[in-house]
Amino acid sequence: MELETIIGLEIHAQLSTKSKLWCNCDNDAFGITPNTRICPVCTGFPGMLPVLNKLALDKAVQAALALGCEIQKFSKFDRKNYFYPDLPTGYQITQSEEPFALKGKVEILVPTKDDHGNVSKISAKKIKITRVHLENDAGKLTHTERGTLIDFNRAGSPLIEIVTEPDLRSSAEAKALAQEIQKILRVVGASDADMEKGMMRFDASVSLRPVGEKTLYPRAEIKNLNSFNSLEKAIEYEISRQTKLWEAGKAPDKDSTRGWLDNEEKTQLLRAKESADDYRYFPEPDVPPLLFTEEGITKISREIPVLPAEKFLKYKKEYKLSDMDSLKLSESRELSDFFDEVVELSNDPKNSAKLIFSALLSNEEWVKTAVKPRHFADVMTLLEKSAISSSGAKKILETAMQTGESAEYLMTKLGLEQISNSGELEKWVEEVLQANPQTVADFKAGKEKVIGFLVGQVMKISRGSANPVLVQKMLRGKLKN
Ligand SMILES: [Zn+2]
Repeated sequence: MELETIIGLEIHAQLSTKSKLWCNCDNDAFGITPNTRICPVCTGFPGMLPVLNKLALDKAVQAALALGCEIQKFSKFDRKNYFYPDLPTGYQITQSEEPFALKGKVEILVPTKDDHGNVSKISAKKIKITRVHLENDAGKLTHTERGTLIDFNRAGSPLIEIVTEPDLRSSAEAKALAQEIQKILRVVGASDADMEKGMMRFDASVSLRPVGEKTLYPRAEIKNLNSFNSLEKAIEYEISRQTKLWEAGKAPDKDSTRGWLDNEEKTQLLRAKESADDYRYFPEPDVPPLLFTEEGITKISREIPVLPAEKFLKYKKEYKLSDMDSLKLSESRELSDFFDEVVELSNDPKNSAKLIFSALLSNEEWVKTAVKPRHFADVMTLLEKSAISSSGAKKILETAMQTGESAEYLMTKLGLEQISNSGELEKWVEEVLQANPQTVADFKAGKEKVIGFLVGQVMKISRGSANPVLVQKMLRGKLKN
């Protein structure tokens, strides 16, 4: 029986606000002494009253709009009741029935690898987003030999939960979606999405079905995956575990919740899945509903920048760059903005990309340097005029990173100007031809390759200042006679 994999993701991302979702406590508590960023509100003291952080809401809306969602004019908060040591209120304030954002879509870029493991092709696919809602995080438990320690610094941090439709068909697609969402959250400034700091976590629901069937079978939800690598590996493991069950005629008959053991690289049953009833949801009485107007939504949507996948497609289709180059240039906002500006000035995407790869990205810290898109565009003009060589271009840009001086000024200052003056070139060319009669004879007898040697000789006596393209042209002209 041929089986097909069905995957949906739930992604939790911490919003990059200064304070927590319902109180004024510091939201950036990574690496801070435990239980020093807490107050009666986030530790659930009796009588506390939560007040919604406006900035968290704005960032959540920006993220949802960038994920192509429709912002709901009315949405509300609900209490999700469960008792757990890291949740001192005994409930989480979340959005259950009426989330603030629905029906989005994300374009993902899925790499295909060849037999050697190199990326040979990148194809685009649209993944539907079911919903995005706002909720608060719980605290953090650390299990030690002496017992369990609780840190409430993270309790009450603002999170968005992004839920996808079960549109993904492989671990590679799931990873591509997770990576794309990380890029989008960063581009709009909603979340730093730093996984090492636990700012982005995934739950993956995996099920199989015979190819051609339309029904969805019971799924296993793998909880709390905190890296792209563990997301990919956990899904791979789950596919092979469920494939064996199907082949043995024992396909899963109910939903389950599983955990991922990073060291053993396998999933483990945590519990049969809770249903919504277990959480006794009810409308949150302490927080008013959210109301949006059409104008309010339009205003925020105008601030959404062009997304990485859109830039990728533009570079690939309009600029005819390769898949890998388009991907690299669209990955970060700083780089794609820089590239866009160079192209705007030079009107030459291909050579702009080439020069950025060779001269800009060789310095990992380029963002902090003095180099500007203008330097690149000017260097390209000098190259086009044959005023400098390509190694001279690199030298100018490297120096511009340090000093910020203009390309033309640096060309003169560093003595990189190529001599294209035909009188001067002719003198050197004549000298080389006279000094190498044997090579000249070889060329005339059909050994055209020796031209390289002659060009080299001219470069030598000009101390590298002759324009090699013109030298070669002049040599050929003279050797023809
Ligand atoms: Zn607090």
